[in-house]
Amino acid sequence: MSEQYIIPIFVPHLGCPNDCTFCNQKSISGQTKQVTPKDVKDIIENYLKGFKEKNLQTEIAFFGGSFTGIDMETQESLLEVAYEYVKEKKVDSIRVSTRPDYIDKERLKLLKKYGVKTIELGVQSSNDYILKKCKRGHTFEDVKKASKLIRKYKFVLGHQMMVGLPESTRIDEMNTAKDLAKLKPKIIRIYPVLVIKGTKLEKEYLNGEYEALTVQQAVERCKDVYYYFTSKNITVIRMGLQNTESISDPAKKESEVVAGPYHEAFGQLVEDSIWYDTILNKIKQFNIKVKEIQIKVNPENVNNVIGHKKENINKLMETYDVKTKVKQDNNIKPGKFEIEIIKTYTDFFNE
Ligand code: SF4
Repeated sequence: MSEQYIIPIFVPHLGCPNDCTFCNQKSISGQTKQVTPKDVKDIIENYLKGFKEKNLQTEIAFFGGSFTGIDMETQESLLEVAYEYVKEKKVDSIRVSTRPDYIDKERLKLLKKYGVKTIELGVQSSNDYILKKCKRGHTFEDVKKASKLIRKYKFVLGHQMMVGLPESTRIDEMNTAKDLAKLKPKIIRIYPVLVIKGTKLEKEYLNGEYEALTVQQAVERCKDVYYYFTSKNITVIRMGLQNTESISDPAKKESEVVAGPYHEAFGQLVEDSIWYDTILNKIKQFNIKVKEIQIKVNPENVNNVIGHKKENINKLMETYDVKTKVKQDNNIKPGKFEIEIIKTYTDFFNE
């Protein structure tokens, strides 16, 4: 995932007349107050002060709500402030996230004028029945039209999709990934559905109509679509919602999460699981039964190999009876690893 500084500015429900059954933007962003141009300036200044690394790309990101659904005057007043920082070269780019039915030529021209580089569309599913069930208020046809127009105006196109929506199956999610890939987004975010307080989904969950995914199920489903997107050279930039005070462990008093696959390091879990699959595949390619291996890996990937709470190396031991040693090696490129057999089963029995 890309190394850059993000200055997040949440515009909860500003511009969004909708109430998707799973959404409570105020909880998700941890913010109830609407954002003013002065807030935008203060947030940017605060973040810039905290950034230590001078060479990293910096992006202002208007998240939440539906940015292009805000009245044009307010959009312009917020963008004006952000654009000043781009002009002064203190920030490299601006991104906004929005709904597909709030994209048209007029709105795109305004975003262009203020140097917006990336537009992320909340898609969630390509299945109209599921979109209707979640009360998204738009169809997949809207996503197709908006994506085409965004690319025509030469913005970077991003999509956000969800796993675990009501009545959505693993197959529906793979179909969504396939349908999205055809629209040629550059980046993707994948969010597993959490049941948030005060939403219609909470009621459906409490009356037994909706069954939330477990963390393990959500990891598997994210992995399916992750593999598909990366096979099409589409970059997955995030998996799992950002942790905030309210999006936190449901056991905490301040948490707004009622149920669902919450994990403080959800994206990490998926990445670790992908590392596990890759390592296991390599082991299976050895034409010999192995008892002990050594994996050399760049220091930045040591935790991926070991897994959260040693899950990967424990699983290799418990499921395949393979003992794993992990060695840091700066000569190995990040994302790569080398695997070596220390002991085969024959060695083991001969000892
Ligand atoms: S469109 Fe987005 S912000 Fe609006 S209710 Fe749905 S998920 Fe929330």
